[in-house]
Amino acid sequence: MAGSGSRGNGNELYEILGVPKSASDTDIKKAYRKLAKEFHPDKNPDAGDKFKEISFAYDVLSDAKKRQIYDRCGLQGLQESGGEGPGFGGHDIFSQLFGGGLFGGMGGMGGMGGRRYQGEDTIHPLKVSLEDLYKGKTSKLQLSKNKICSACKGKGSKSGQSYQCRGCRGNGYKIQFKPIVGGMSAQVNVKCTDCSGEGQTIPEGEKCGVCRGKKVVIETKILEVNITKGMEDGARITFWGQGDEQPGMEVGDVVIVLQQKPHEKFQRSDCDLFMTHTITLTEALCGFQFLVKHLDGRDIVVKHPAGQIIKPGDVKGIPNEGMPLPKSPFEHGNLFIKFDVSFPSNNFADIEKLKMLEGVLPPRPDFTMPSGEHVEEVCLQEYDPNDRRSHGTSRGDSDDEEGNTSRIQCPAQ
Ligand SMILES: [Zn+2]
Ligand SMILES: [Zn+2]
Repeated sequence: MAGSGSRGNGNELYEILGVPKSASDTDIKKAYRKLAKEFHPDKNPDAGDKFKEISFAYDVLSDAKKRQIYDRCGLQGLQESGGEGPGFGGHDIFSQLFGGGLFGGMGGMGGMGGRRYQGEDTIHPLKVSLEDLYKGKTSKLQLSKNKICSACKGKGSKSGQSYQCRGCRGNGYKIQFKPIVGGMSAQVNVKCTDCSGEGQTIPEGEKCGVCRGKKVVIETKILEVNITKGMEDGARITFWGQGDEQPGMEVGDVVIVLQQKPHEKFQRSDCDLFMTHTITLTEALCGFQFLVKHLDGRDIVVKHPAGQIIKPGDVKGIPNEGMPLPKSPFEHGNLFIKFDVSFPSNNFADIEKLKMLEGVLPPRPDFTMPSGEHVEEVCLQEYDPNDRRSHGTSRGDSDDEEGNTSRIQCPAQ
């Protein structure tokens, strides 16, 4: 367990995202995306509440107002400002951060099985395609949740009566004395085994027939998740008060976190889309047109005039063909295309045709053949970086034996 000394240092949320306090919005976003991917419950089911903490930290630090409150007054400040705007009301992440979780105990209260008043949020990942994020979509999602048993109104007993646990007098925990050095003993709280920390035991015959004394029943519910145009990977859609119900607790929320599936053609960066396209040397020099099937099914004909040269690695942009802007879905980012140029294969044309080609292309640089004894003519060979030794790289190499076949003959001109 983390030392309780770390609690309330005012940096917890920055530490969760691994960024300095001076981090820019972009740094925070980047760090969040990376961690959210890594600790996503889908990929990393053992990471426990780490994902929640990451999401919470991002929720605060990505919002200028919340970040300001946090910077000034820490977690306590945020909790006190609770209810102001979405993302705060009923979040049990506070008790988690303050309680037995990452930042050490609050005098043992948070961790003890007794009472908690804030319900759990249900974080649920939803995989979406880039097409869905481009066009928008309503997804139906089936979730099951705990609902307070209506037969017993959450009491768990047939009569609706509450039965206090005798073992712990309703506290949920018992006090034990644990010997420590020097004949002294320390007082520790131990979860009551009679009632599993509930503080209540309902006699078998008195248990509600519907929930069997559990106070809650499982309900299956279909949520309609409205994915709007331009939403981003990691975007959160909150269904307030749709989470698990538990007697005596505020109901939690269901938070849907969008996860964009990789796309085979397009990569996304904010509102821009990126793709690569390979053209032939002929097209690179003489112009071209090609088809891009866009995310909404449109066929985009990309045209480029003859004479406007495209070099390998060149990037060209098409305005307004990127992703819709989330806040203004009729506006779009840009589509960027990175070009690769495929060259013709060896001997694609005979000498005569090459001469014709040379007549069209810009002239070669001047070359004057030097004269004298120190002039040597060599030929280029295929270069294999893993096989340098066998090709007799250096002059006078001792293992350059007679009859070495690696020497390549210059082809006759
Ligand atoms: Zn008990
Ligand atoms: Zn019941």
